[in-house]
Amino acid sequence: EIEITGLVKRFGTNTVLDGIDLCLQPGERVAIIGPSGTGKSTLLRCLNYLDRPEEGVIRVGDLTVDAARARNADVLALRRRTGFVFQNYALFANKTARANITEGLTTVRGWSKDKARARADDILAQIGLADRGDSYPAALSGGQQQRVGIGRAMALGADLLLFDEPTSALDPEWVGEVLDLIRRIAEGRQTMMIVTHEMQFAREIADRVVFMEGGRIVEQGPPEQLFGRAQDDRTRAFLRRVG
Ligand code: ATP
Ligand code: MG
Repeated sequence: EIEITGLVKRFGTNTVLDGIDLCLQPGERVAIIGPSGTGKSTLLRCLNYLDRPEEGVIRVGDLTVDAARARNADVLALRRRTGFVFQNYALFANKTARANITEGLTTVRGWSKDKARARADDILAQIGLADRGDSYPAALSGGQQQRVGIGRAMALGADLLLFDEPTSALDPEWVGEVLDLIRRIAEGRQTMMIVTHEMQFAREIADRVVFMEGGRIVEQGPPEQLFGRAQDDRTRAFLRRVG
């Protein structure tokens, strides 16, 4: 179980997350939607401590990280339990697809090179890139690069996968294959949070949709409720805008 309580993030005087409370059951798939600049990426980044929250508590299973007194060891432990998929892939350009996947296993997990390589080859097969392990990112299509980005997060066996608009940087021709991969991961009941502007996709894979605006959760519920019978005017206005 994952429990987020009272999460606050400020950039200078700008309060970007204004007290976020959210619980995820094991295997739950949560989609986060909302207008631009509302704190969706910041929320995901705080859960991986890519951004450091000022206040709040993040609990993942038996690990509790309190922003008020988080030590480096807590942050590392949290990173071992949360895998992050970036909008722009964020692959190491000077490492092969396989090495991008083994990197976290050897550094974050402390695995031997051989063990990490075996795991990476298994992951490469799962993401449909068994024959591209030796390729560098520049030699891969956008869709293939993002599949490596997802494979890298999968390889860690994290309790929670975080996807920040994983298809929004892709040329339209590569979106389908990346959504297919995420769909497959979701079908495996991997606990995940996905920030997406693909409403149809959110409706399809999410158990729960969370609408955020102005650094707060405005409304949440099962997709059919949120998309069909939103209660809050702000949610309805947003859904009208995005069609
Ligand atoms: P989008 O849909 O456009 O991706 P978002 O909901 O993901 O938007 P965030 O990227 O979380 O929004 O940004 C929320 C607010 O925080 C914005 O006002 C943004 O300018 C600000 N912000 C984000 N990162 C930083 C930073 N590193 N330094 C200063 N301000 C930041
Ligand atoms: Mg964002």
